[in-house]
Amino acid sequence: MIPTAFSLFIPKEIRAMAERLEGAGRKAYIVGGALRDHAMRRRVGNDFDMATDASPQEIVALFPRVLPTGIKHGTVTVLSGRHGVEITTFRLERGFSDGRRPDSVEFVADVEEDLSRRDFTMNAMALEVTTGRLHDPFGGREDIARRRIRSVGDPALRFAEDGLRPLRAIRFAAQLGFEIDADTLAAIPGAAPTFRLVSQERVREEFLKILLSPSPSAGLRLLESTGLLADVLPELLASRGCPQKGMHAFDVLDHLFLAADMAIDDPIIRLAALFHDAGKPAASAPGEDGEPTFYNHERISADLAGQALRRLKFPNDTIERVLHLVRNHMFNYSEAWTDAAVRRFLARVGVESVDGLFALRLADSAAIRGTPPDPLALEPFRKRIDAILEQSAAFSIKDLAVKGGDLASIGVPKGPMMGNILRDLLETVLDDPAQNESEILLRIAASLKARYGAA
Ligand code: ATP
Ligand code: MG
Repeated sequence: MIPTAFSLFIPKEIRAMAERLEGAGRKAYIVGGALRDHAMRRRVGNDFDMATDASPQEIVALFPRVLPTGIKHGTVTVLSGRHGVEITTFRLERGFSDGRRPDSVEFVADVEEDLSRRDFTMNAMALEVTTGRLHDPFGGREDIARRRIRSVGDPALRFAEDGLRPLRAIRFAAQLGFEIDADTLAAIPGAAPTFRLVSQERVREEFLKILLSPSPSAGLRLLESTGLLADVLPELLASRGCPQKGMHAFDVLDHLFLAADMAIDDPIIRLAALFHDAGKPAASAPGEDGEPTFYNHERISADLAGQALRRLKFPNDTIERVLHLVRNHMFNYSEAWTDAAVRRFLARVGVESVDGLFALRLADSAAIRGTPPDPLALEPFRKRIDAILEQSAAFSIKDLAVKGGDLASIGVPKGPMMGNILRDLLETVLDDPAQNESEILLRIAASLKARYGAA
């Protein structure tokens, strides 16, 4: 392979790292996503991966700020300015008996040997920093030009080594808008047993990248057609072929995929969009008019989402926020709502969740027939909410003009009674904000105390 000249803007910190390695008689190459993005004429981010024939110990000795990210496998992170660069020693990997990690790694001297262990041809290129020479032994540039994801070597063997690779292929397809080459694609279903050995954390990271890609549905459809959906998100399988009603043009699963596409690229909103109706198949019952009904599906959807997100080890606060949106996605505002009804809605969902619920609703509506989201659809409701918020009314117990301590001072015991009285006071104030005065509330509380005490 004759190396080719290739011009990539390399930040000066990265260049300085390469020069330091070369000063020590070693080689330094840029590999991975930055090179791929550059070959695609995409904007290259701050995230650079490097490869070198220096050993991890040599790298540690050469640079002042080094994190031992994966020192056993030959990877360290060198920090410089805004950049954290993963520098990996050229290596071969052998004997993937667990389908996850090599049994052993062997450091090698030749960059092209190192490239041969990498997953896809587009990821198996290396640019020598100081000379600008490109090594592309597997035709990565040609595959990039043809927008094609192809395994380095026999895909079935490469997938049997590391079960994450099939999911990475699908993730890159969604992220880059590429096709997976026929042979590589055909090897994915057979890789399912190895895929099942991969840790949920690694699966989650790739799944999130699919979800945040320009077209999540492209990745989700590939998951479905290759059978991996049964392992990644079995909670969604029952939605395939589950009919909807009314204006809906798609079955539940296509509606969910499309909702993810239509949602703003925020992980919480996209996760909520993907799961919001997943409970419909279980909730479906024939209605009087012959059309199905889906009573309570938002609860079942939230349960299914919780199960999936916990398995994928999402952080608890992410899970909570997603489930909250899913549970509350069925609001149905009309101008007939009284101010008290708007306040009750705000008290129920929380003022801080309104933006998320609106974003979810826009995606949901757009996915009914596949029309683009209509940003004005919720304007009337938004205006009502803004007007109510201007009145600085109380929407939660902490907004009340009396606190637990005030109730204690009129003899309300701490415990369930105090909680009940505070909730009743909030109901009162939601009905009529003018009651949110400490004198008035204390009077009401005193009579409630007498009533609860007598009960
Ligand atoms: P991005 O960082 O944009 O997600 P990337 O290609 O840089 O994409 P990384 O996960 O940062 O992906 O990995 C860097 C490089 O390491 C890849 O380009 C590829 O050459 C190699 N690589 C990563 N994961 C694997 C794997 N599971 N099997 C084989 N090679 C891999
Ligand atoms: Mg990278």
